[in-house]
Amino acid sequence: MGGRDTEVVLLDENGIRCDGRKIDEPRRIMIKAGVLKNANGSAYIEFGDNKILAGVYGPRDVHPKHMSNTDTGILRCRYHMQPFSVTERKNPAPSRREIEISKVIKEALEPAVMLDKFPRTAVDVFIEVLQADGGSRCAALDAASVALADAGIPMRDMVSACAAGKVADTIVLDVNNEEDQAGQADMPVGYMPNLEKITLLQLDGVLTPEEYKKCVQTGIDGCKLVYEIQKKALTDKYFAGGNE
Ligand code: ADP
Repeated sequence: MGGRDTEVVLLDENGIRCDGRKIDEPRRIMIKAGVLKNANGSAYIEFGDNKILAGVYGPRDVHPKHMSNTDTGILRCRYHMQPFSVTERKNPAPSRREIEISKVIKEALEPAVMLDKFPRTAVDVFIEVLQADGGSRCAALDAASVALADAGIPMRDMVSACAAGKVADTIVLDVNNEEDQAGQADMPVGYMPNLEKITLLQLDGVLTPEEYKKCVQTGIDGCKLVYEIQKKALTDKYFAGGNE
């Protein structure tokens, strides 16, 4: 949320945003399931200019063994940005931000995954950001969820994610990088569409109570749109022609 005093026109007089979208319009989203042969499940997502790969391995033995739990399986998650994923080379070592995002994605997925069905084992989710453009944690969560389903991991629901935010005093769907930098608020939302439960909610910025409610609802609406694309990615892989 830096640089709020920059001169970018975030919303013009016709309600059109800096990248040509309407306030309730998401960026283009494309998801492909099953892209990594050596993973148990995988997915590739393009969410606007974000390009992200997710690979799922497991359930498999836990090393070191003392990390395992006799009552339940464990979920481990690593969100990592490639050095070339942003304009200035990013140090490949995990940053505080990547450690935080790995944690929130793991916690956003946990309510959906039936970990109790495979005690003593681990399911590992590896996320590689190839190109980042704002909202990468949501896009990463979307890909990870499809990759888990592709791996055949029993799940209570899909987790769908999309951010909402405040730009030029207006609540908008799916904040891009420019809006994230120059806008007033960014709220990533992760949501289980069938169970109607939120599993990720973060907020960077300041909102009134009314704006907060509208922002959460806008994020949920975005998640519902993403959910249809996640389902299509899976039906495209598992049912010829993707007919559901
Ligand atoms: P998210 O990607 O989930 O929106 P942030 O709000 O922390 O997460 O980051 C917003 C955007 O800032 C990222 O998507 C990326 O485009 C950019 N960004 C993040 N880290 C770096 C970095 N180390 N160097 C340059 N740009 C970065």
